[in-house]
Amino acid sequence: MSSLGTAGRRHFLAASLGLGGALLAPLVLGRSLPELLPPAGTRRVLIVGGGWGGLTAARRLRQLAPELDVVLIERQASFRSLPLSNKWLVDRTPDALMQQDYGRVAEAHGYRLIRAEVTAIDREQRRVQTAQGTLGYDWLILAAGIRHDYGAWFGDEVGAADAARKLFPAGFMADELDAVKRKLAEFKSGDLLMTIPPPAARCPPAPYERAVMIAWLLKTRRIRGRLILVDPGGGMQRFNRVFAERYKDQIVHLTHAPVKSVDPFRKTLSTEFDEINFDDAILIPPQQAAGLVGQAGLVERDAAGQPGGWAEFDPLHLHAIGDERVFLVGDLLGKVSPLFGHYPKSAHMACHLGRIAAAEIAARAQGKAPPQLLPESICHVHTDAEPMEMLRIDASYRRRGDGLITQAVRQHEDPQPRGEDAQWAQALYGEMLAPQPF
Ligand SMILES: Cc1cc2nc3c(=O)[nH]c(=O)nc-3n(C[C@H](O)[C@H](O)[C@H](O)COP(=O)(O)OP(=O)(O)OC[C@H]3O[C@@H](n4cnc5c(N)ncnc54)[C@H](O)[C@@H]3O)c2cc1C
Repeated sequence: MSSLGTAGRRHFLAASLGLGGALLAPLVLGRSLPELLPPAGTRRVLIVGGGWGGLTAARRLRQLAPELDVVLIERQASFRSLPLSNKWLVDRTPDALMQQDYGRVAEAHGYRLIRAEVTAIDREQRRVQTAQGTLGYDWLILAAGIRHDYGAWFGDEVGAADAARKLFPAGFMADELDAVKRKLAEFKSGDLLMTIPPPAARCPPAPYERAVMIAWLLKTRRIRGRLILVDPGGGMQRFNRVFAERYKDQIVHLTHAPVKSVDPFRKTLSTEFDEINFDDAILIPPQQAAGLVGQAGLVERDAAGQPGGWAEFDPLHLHAIGDERVFLVGDLLGKVSPLFGHYPKSAHMACHLGRIAAAEIAARAQGKAPPQLLPESICHVHTDAEPMEMLRIDASYRRRGDGLITQAVRQHEDPQPRGEDAQWAQALYGEMLAPQPF
């Protein structure tokens, strides 16, 4: 368990969020709040976050250990998919494939759902706190995804961070998608700027796929505008070719251009070489694990003891270091192996990690040895919109003789996709959502 006391953890969260102490009041633990549910007659698994990882874990736990009380806490009313969303932004994926009501899902699989924002986790007392009340757990699965690290651009300037979030949302969290879609529908001319987040980040090919979709939109709607792509790296080979050969009038790709500063009020962004004015923007800042990871004292540290942005965990069993009551799943995970760093932050990977955490907890609850499982990742990205072209990126994992996990990545280009991405999504939905015709 973390050596940080409650006060230390609060301070730590403030540091990791780049916030002042005044904003910490809602996180104080131990306030007298009602119980959200009566005490369970049996042992309880609490899952925080109903994304790809949390929903899969909930369903799998019901199958593997029906004797456990499974409770999912999620702040949104419905599940929204980020996979397929780039095509959805330009009206090339039906709404029906994008979302489903959480109540229906929980009812279909027989677990309990609480709609609430979790504000704090007390690992010593094994309790989570929300604005409405608290809840105890025997095991906790933390599957809360990512947060945007606006602090990396704006430091303590909360007003600038709020303006960037509100006026130029990233569309990298599900509740930001509608605003980005509206923005694209309303964009009539000028320079639309989009930043690519530095690693580690959620689904690294996704911003390039989005760039192609936006460029296609500009071209087919004959919009007199450009997409300025500000990229801290060199891009992805396949996309770089498509940008240069098919969308040279629509995309200006600035490579090796880390963001130095952003002014959301004046609509300017600076890199080491350029100051860029923009008419509108999709600002995707650097990313970190969801804030609860820092609050719960679960953030990884470097050799000098400095906190990083992601969760520290046992790579073989997915529990927190020194706390086998807390399991970590999905995009919030930190480094897995010195051989390759992070697992890909993909939905496919989050589902597999959810299955593994469920198998671990079920085995522990039943007094069995947990199975030794490693995940995999499959990611479909479109490299052009019309005709559709696709790239499939597969990653697989093995355990080496010395115990380290190794990674093998393969890419397949598909010039004639036939809806494999939608079939992939439906296969996973079949496990984690309620049955429904698409
Ligand atoms: C544009 C885009 C395209 C992508 N395309 C693909 C793709 O084609 N294939 C693929 O495999 N992956 C893709 N991904 C990546 C994929 O979306 C993520 O890897 C996946 O969502 C991670 O799942 P997760 O469960 O870790 O987090 P999430 O899906 O983000 O779920 C986290 C959940 O936790 C909830 N939550 C967070 N904090 C709290 C709190 N304090 N209290 C209560 N609830 C909370 C959130 O509301 C959310 O529902 C894409 C991502 C993007 C942005």
